[in-house]
Formats: sequence, structure tokens, C-alpha cells
Amino acid sequence: MRLSRSFIPTLKETPTEAQIVSHRLMLRAGLIRQHAAGIYNWLPLGTRVLQNIAQIVREEQNAAGAQEIIMPTVQSGELWKESGRYDDYGPEMLRIKDRHERDMLYGPTHEEVVTDIFRNNVKSYRDLPLNLYQIHWKFRDEVRPRFGVMRGREFLMKDAYSFDTDFARAKHAYNQMFVAYLRTFARMGLRAIPMRADSGPIGGDMSHEFIVLAETGESAVFCHKGLLEKPIPQGVNYEGDLQAIVDDWTSLYAATEEKHDAAVAAKLGADLVSARGIEVGHIFHFGTKYSAAMKATVAGPDGTNITPMMGSYGIGVSRLAGAIIEASHDDAGIIWPESVAPYRVGLINLKTGDAACDAACADLYAKLAAAGVSVLYDDRDERPGVKFANMDLIGVPWHVVIGPKGLAKGQIELKRRAGGAREELSIDAVLQKLST
Ligand code: ATP
Ligand code: MG
Repeated sequence: MRLSRSFIPTLKETPTEAQIVSHRLMLRAGLIRQHAAGIYNWLPLGTRVLQNIAQIVREEQNAAGAQEIIMPTVQSGELWKESGRYDDYGPEMLRIKDRHERDMLYGPTHEEVVTDIFRNNVKSYRDLPLNLYQIHWKFRDEVRPRFGVMRGREFLMKDAYSFDTDFARAKHAYNQMFVAYLRTFARMGLRAIPMRADSGPIGGDMSHEFIVLAETGESAVFCHKGLLEKPIPQGVNYEGDLQAIVDDWTSLYAATEEKHDAAVAAKLGADLVSARGIEVGHIFHFGTKYSAAMKATVAGPDGTNITPMMGSYGIGVSRLAGAIIEASHDDAGIIWPESVAPYRVGLINLKTGDAACDAACADLYAKLAAAGVSVLYDDRDERPGVKFANMDLIGVPWHVVIGPKGLAKGQIELKRRAGGAREELSIDAVLQKLST
């Protein structure tokens, strides 16, 4: 993309309405614009980042055996009356009447809808296990939308729902999501720590929130410092037994404020980390709560009906864009991990209008594109200082700088945004390095 043609409305001034750094940088780098309280437009750069995050989530969900679907954002209130949540949900639910005065709502979550799909289409125990997920917009009329996309009212969520015939299998489904989550967040350069979380009226220990430690996090959290270093599982066989991996992570103390046990934590002494955190995901087993209420059953092997056990598994896809910036930025701007960066390379032409610079840039731009490398090419007629500052703010991982002096010696500059290391290389060497 040529910067001269792109829609990236960056801001020089720090927006005063933004209280945390990720929100400020998302506005300044032109990723998002507010539409109404807690409701955002995602501009081209933000959209690319959001799509990259969603793609990582999708790949790891698929690897774990979940299948992608798309459910409606606007739901019928009737289903929620069946589950009993229509009245219970409270003012966070955006209620809508259609032209026939029917009760509709903008979905804050999708347990009812997915249970309805299940009961209408799945008839036999042989069709289980089943895990269905979507990556779609939710609306929750939060009391205090704040921190930009971190706590929005409309936000993008990955929500998966598992159905199993018995508890042992439901636990396996839970473990699959547990391991998939460890891998998903690690691929985005984040360390998200699974912490025991409130499991509601069902009780049990099958509720974990995945928390990224950050000063600006909304929750107080406590964990063993060993969890900050634990290696992420590689080459996982999701059909095999995953219990050992889950036990390895859950044997060390980690709890959100609601589940925190100060007496147990005190025994950790210097190994205890007490910090603030951002909840980027939540996995939850809730037994037959919805399947029983909505009369979803399948025929078992002996012909008697089985009410499936369910779990739900959320990831805050749009919140992650903010969380990644909280974890990776400096005074100059965003530092995107390669896996989610809106472009891999920022190409800076130091002297637009100089025939040699223009030709070298155009040539490298075309060759990188041919090699499948995404490039943001600053071809504008601006001062070098403006271009450097802009590329640092946007935060693409690699900056290539082409100017008349270096070019005369056959050299261009390659800079790593993270850490700022620079090298002088030939154009071919840069092409080689960035194409692999
Ligand atoms: P929170 O305690 O932050 O309100 P929650 O417990 O309501 O979260 P879930 O219902 O488990 O969240 O939703 C799954 C995920 O969706 C959360 O882990 C979080 O990452 C994300 N999420 C929830 N609410 C919001 C919101 N208002 N804005 C952005 N992301 C959100
Ligand atoms: Mg909430």
C-alpha cells in the first residue's frame, strides 16, 4: 500500500479522552475512531490487525477440532425466555422490538442460539463430541465502557460451545480449549496465564480466565511466578489425553480476585506475583444448564435420551488489539509482533521526487509484493523526520529506508522496530532477508 493513497488518519496530538496508552495509540495511529460510547469504527490499519488476530484464533480453534459457524447478531427473545435468562440478564442486554412488536435482542452471548441449533439438528450420541464456534460481534450495554476497545459495548468475540455425552468427555473438550488458548495467545506475542475463576452456581474447578499481566488491567490477580516462564505446548495431539498439560499449568497457584485464597498464596512467599491483569479469554464448563432448560437431548446407545454437557469458551478478539499494544509499545508508538502487524514492512523513501530513490523504492516495493510480503510504502513528499515518526507510531516490524547517499554506494538501511537495531545492506540482501 502506498501511504499517499491510504486512509490512515494519524493524529499528532495526544487525544485527551483516552486514559490508557493502547487507546491513545489506536487513535493516534489511525486504527479506530469512536462512533458512540463504546462503539468503534475500525479503519483500514485496525481492520487488518483485527483480521490477523481473528485468523490466529481461527487456526487454533480449527486445530483443536472446533468448527466455525456464524450465528445471528440479532436474536429472538423467545429462546432467552426458555433458558430463563430473558429477565435475569439485566440492563447489559440491548432489547429491541421488531415491527410486529416481537421481543428481539442484540446478542450479548450465544448459549441459547447454539443450543437451539443443536436440539433441532443433532439427534444421536454418535454425532458427539461437537464444538461449534464463531467470531462475531456482541453487544453488551456496559455501565462504564472505557479504555477504547478494551471495554466496548459492541465488541468482537470468539465464542465456542462444546457438547458432550458425559463429564469425562466434557472435560476433554475443556482441556482442548485450555491448550488451544495457551497457543493462541502465545502466537500473538502474549503470555496469557490461566487463572482459576468464578464458576458460578455450578461450582467445580472448570472455569479459567486467561489473563495478560498489565498495569492498566481491570482485575487484581495473583499467581506463581513460574507461570511467567512455562513453555507453551508444541505439536499438540488434540485427540490424545491433554490432562497432563493442563495439570502442569494448573498445579501452580493462579487466581483472579474472586477466587483468591490469601492463606494459600502467602505460602508462596517470594514466588507470589500479585499484579493487575487484562482478561483476554474465559473457558467455562456449565454442565446441562442450557441443554436441560431448553430440552436439548440426543438418543443414547440404549435408546434413552442423554442431555449433553456443555461448555463455553470466549476470546476477546477486539480487546486483544488493545492488550497487545499495552504489552508492546514504546514512547514513539506501537511495536507490532509480526504475527498480527498490519503490514510486515514499512518502506521509507527519504527523497520522493529523486529519480534514483523513486526507482529503487518502486522496484523493491514490487519485488516484496511478488514475494508475498505486505508493505506500507511511504512515498509522500514529506520530511524524513515526519516519515520516521509516522512509521514508528504505526509500528510495523521492519523499516526499510532508501535515501540518495546510501543508494549511491548501493546500500539501504534495514531497521527492526523492536529494539531499533539498524543495518546497512544491499537491496538484494534486504529482499532476501524480508522474503523468508
Ligand atoms: P469482563 O469480566 O471483562 O466483563 P466477561 O466475564 O463478561 O468479561 P465473557 O462473557 O467471558 O466476559 O466474554 C469472553 C471474553 O470477551 C472476555 O474474556 C473478554 O476478553 C471479552 N469481553 C467481554 N466483555 C467485553 C467488552 N465489554 N469489551 C471487549 N471485550 C470484552
Ligand atoms: Mg462482562
